Amino acid sequence: MQNISAFKEYLSVPRKVVIITHFKPDADALGSSLGLSGYLKLKGHTVTVITPSDYPDFIAWMPGNKDVVIFQKDKPQKAHQLIQEADTIFCLDFSTLNRINELGEVVKNAAATKVLIDHHLEPESFAHFEQWDGTAASTAELVFQLIDELNDKTSITKEIATCLYAGIMTDTGGFRHSNTTHKVFQIAGELVALGANPSRISKQIYDNNSLERLRLTGFVLSEKLKVLPEFKTALIVLNAEELKTFSTQTGDTEGFVNYGLSIKGVKLSVMIADRRENIKLSFRSLGNFSVNDLARKYFNGGGHRNASGGQTKLTLDETVQKFLSVLPEYKEQLLADDTEKII
Ligand code: 5GP
Ligand code: MN
Repeated sequence: MQNISAFKEYLSVPRKVVIITHFKPDADALGSSLGLSGYLKLKGHTVTVITPSDYPDFIAWMPGNKDVVIFQKDKPQKAHQLIQEADTIFCLDFSTLNRINELGEVVKNAAATKVLIDHHLEPESFAHFEQWDGTAASTAELVFQLIDELNDKTSITKEIATCLYAGIMTDTGGFRHSNTTHKVFQIAGELVALGANPSRISKQIYDNNSLERLRLTGFVLSEKLKVLPEFKTALIVLNAEELKTFSTQTGDTEGFVNYGLSIKGVKLSVMIADRRENIKLSFRSLGNFSVNDLARKYFNGGGHRNASGGQTKLTLDETVQKFLSVLPEYKEQLLADDTEKII
């Protein structure tokens, strides 16, 4: 953080803090928020974590989870009131206010001091303090760095370390994606030394499937995963009826898009799912192909170069047609030589 001494000074008196993270939070969003919350509480601040929506069970075990205020589920008034009364609002794992839907306006207009901690590309400028790094693999990593910059790593408890480790593990795809740097291993190693248990955390997150979710996975792989070899692209389209058939819960489709990218020769993988309230798109790519550009230009989204999301208010068919119609624009890039799968 650029103005770290001013920030340290700012935190030297007890603050009324709200930590807010993005719609449909993943393990990095929730883990970084709960890790930071645990730390700030230790330092004498009053802290509430707010999520705009619910989130999957496989992340709902993290220390501090039971006190999270879920805007969509709990009384929205409560979230509004907390934001209005806060003197400090931390925004974690997002950097455009539309990622928190209607809460975006509320946060924007709130009188509180705002602190952004994030690693998504092309951030909006709305915060007084920023711990932003587009090259960081996860927001959890940035929370760790901030605590380090405050010279306070020794305050990190096992609970805090567990939340942060979960965020780092998942945003690197289990230490496999191209964002898995030396620094990632160093921080993860320190978190393990501070009490995070890698095997237990990975079991909680990756080995917590319902039978329905595994059946859905089987169905998607055998019936829904298509390859467009002329674009080196894999595509999964899921309609609302299919999602209903498998009693799909929040988070059940997470990771499906990665199967497409695991196919030999595929450079772009896309999943388009009808979530009823909107159509949700997930993009993954290899190498220099920027799904952030694609998601931003055509699908009201963004994220990272190799992992982005988006949404539309079109029908599912219209969204698929739109995607297919923009693919030729990227054909040259998609067919360009790619060495990503070669060490
Ligand atoms: P996922 O496909 O797993 O939902 O998201 C991949 C990445 O893109 C994550 O870093 C996520 O935060 C980001 N992302 C997902 N949906 C959106 C969106 O609608 N807008 C923006 N700006 N980012 C998104
Ligand atoms: Mn993240």
